[in-house]
Amino acid sequence: MTLRDITDRISKAAPAANSAAGAVSLIAVSKTQPNERVQGVLEEGHRIFGENKVQEAAGKWPAFREQFDGVKLHLIGPLQTNKARQAMELADAIHTLDRPKLANTLARLAQELGRCPDLFVQVNTGEEDQKAGVMPDKADAFIAECLALDLPVKGLMCIPPVNEEASLHFALLAKIAARNGLRDLSMGMSSDFEKAIALGATHVRVGSAIFGERDAV
Ligand SMILES: *Cc1c(COP(=O)(O)O)cnc(C)c1O
Repeated sequence: MTLRDITDRISKAAPAANSAAGAVSLIAVSKTQPNERVQGVLEEGHRIFGENKVQEAAGKWPAFREQFDGVKLHLIGPLQTNKARQAMELADAIHTLDRPKLANTLARLAQELGRCPDLFVQVNTGEEDQKAGVMPDKADAFIAECLALDLPVKGLMCIPPVNEEASLHFALLAKIAARNGLRDLSMGMSSDFEKAIALGATHVRVGSAIFGERDAV
């Protein structure tokens, strides 16, 4: 697969499902990929990237940003509060707002910095113990709490359980977003982004299908 294959598949998947064609952002997930591969995708003109670790993002994106204009960086991995400031300084969007302590920290830092990345609330749609995210039955209250803190919550994010039909989780996420008046849906990865788009994804997070398999970390 190449970047072009993926963007073609997205545009084929999009018009049928998504009334606003072109409304799907492709986040190229570059975590653990060698810099040459990331550079190659930048040279092809792509500008939206995702990283799951603040440290790793801080190690490579400032240099790429000096070389390439218009880079948008999305943080898609679990965020510790002690890394929140660095995350806010680096990222254009954070997809993993999932608990009150983090919401309070981001709100305080937003005041201090005078800006805040776009935020997505992560929902643990599969109610998995090992996974981050607010539980589905707590999502409405948590979203309200974040909005009351004036946080720029744009949408919701989920990572479906590996052994379940992803569409059920995408549909649940879309339903929670709709009843909370949120527009953006960050859902769908290499193996299922077309299904996610069919259910209203506005942001798909695709790594290995663009860059190739990651080295095990
Ligand atoms: C790694 C990662 C992805 C991309 O996964 P692929 O299967 O390589 O497309 C998407 N979302 C999150 C949160 C990730 O950590």
